Amino acid sequence: MGRTKNVKVPTLYEVKGNKVVRKKESCPKCGEGIFLAEHRDRKTCGKCSYMVFKKK
Ligand SMILES: [Zn+2]
Repeated sequence: MGRTKNVKVPTLYEVKGNKVVRKKESCPKCGEGIFLAEHRDRKTCGKCSYMVFKKK
């Protein structure tokens, strides 16, 4: 049996039809895998305190 690369990546995106829906946003500073915590008006990274405000 050949070794197929089938690495399981945490699902960040959900594909709906031909649309890709973003599920969680990862920290641009910490990189993939570190997700931003959702708040009502902002998102924060618990690791580096990165903060981004949501726009309505
Ligand atoms: Zn971070």
